Amino acid sequence: MVKETKFYDVLGVSATASDTELKKAYRKAALKYHPDKNSTPEAVEKFKEISHAYEILSDEEKRDVYDQYGEDGLSGQGGPGMNAEDIFSQFFGGGFGGGFGGGPQRPTKGKDIKHSIGCTLEDLYKGKTTKLALNKTVLCKDCDGRGGAEGKVKECPDCHGSGMKFVTRQMGPMIQRFQTQCDKCQGTGDLCDPKDRCTTCKGKKTQTERKILQVHIDPGMKDGQRIVFSGEGDQEPGITPGDVIFVVDERPNAEFQRRGNDLYKEYEVDLLTALAGGEIGFKHISGDWIKINITPGEVIAPGETKIVEGQGMPIYRHGGKGNLIIKFTVEFPKNHFADEDKLKELASILPPRKQVQIPEGAEVDECEMVKYDPAKHQQRSRASYDSDDEDGQGQPGVQCASQ
Ligand SMILES: [Zn+2]
Ligand SMILES: [Zn+2]
Repeated sequence: MVKETKFYDVLGVSATASDTELKKAYRKAALKYHPDKNSTPEAVEKFKEISHAYEILSDEEKRDVYDQYGEDGLSGQGGPGMNAEDIFSQFFGGGFGGGFGGGPQRPTKGKDIKHSIGCTLEDLYKGKTTKLALNKTVLCKDCDGRGGAEGKVKECPDCHGSGMKFVTRQMGPMIQRFQTQCDKCQGTGDLCDPKDRCTTCKGKKTQTERKILQVHIDPGMKDGQRIVFSGEGDQEPGITPGDVIFVVDERPNAEFQRRGNDLYKEYEVDLLTALAGGEIGFKHISGDWIKINITPGEVIAPGETKIVEGQGMPIYRHGGKGNLIIKFTVEFPKNHFADEDKLKELASILPPRKQVQIPEGAEVDECEMVKYDPAKHQQRSRASYDSDDEDGQGQPGVQCASQ
């Protein structure tokens, strides 16, 4: 007998379409031909047609009848169908994929498996290859994933191989549909004489296999970047395996921070080098040492930023490198680092002191400074001065004695 396929054709799907495919097709067509969206004269009829087709095919019992007997087989059942608009609102009101009349959820693609792969900045600078062992599910090699001898495994007629069945229950005015395991095949989706069952997988169709994957971390890869092994996910009969995806997890580095392709470093330079030149040096992510000459005459101010071009991270699959950004702090000497006579010599070298300009006739309060003591000064200084000197650069906490 030739199967009637009109309803499938209306939705543009094959007669073996899964429920997910049906839903997708209905969603697409319904949105296209809904009278609110489409004002052409044909749209009204078309919208009714697709709604009716979906109403039948999304109902497992009706779909069965239609598949076996065609549209004529349905005419005896349940009187007139639902209103096209009701189907539409129930479908979209029920949320994506969870709408009224949805069939068993049979995925067509397996789950992707994600692993995070920890990488130091050094790994991401030089690149590395890691071997990772995965236990994956593969189709049974002895029965090619059939679960039994060839031609002896039949699709379960109750659930059409999905292993799941719908139970419809009336609760007051509501009809609820539940998805449960098919009891005829115990959820396996097929029927097979025990003597024909594959002994290797015991009818499960799959077995576990240990697989080694080589993951190449290329120079310049970034945090969150994905390395995809397409189709290496678990295999299951009738579905496309998902992917195995490794996600780069960049570990922080104590000395350097990464900003895109640039490296950022804070460097504390001594006061003499900052004022009179010298050299600075540190170990780079590459493992090499960086040495930079500061020529006498070049002054490095606290907070100043300098760039070493081309000493940043490698640029992924591009060649070249980013820059190295150095932000300087200056280490000042401790109190009394030189005696008073020596200090006077500084006056002959450094730029002259700033002279305090007090307008004539102004009242002057002569004050004294003491060392900042949080226990003693914190509250008062916050409240009355709103000090912005909390980074330790200065010594806030000025006490005044009125004269
Ligand atoms: Zn079944
Ligand atoms: Zn087998």
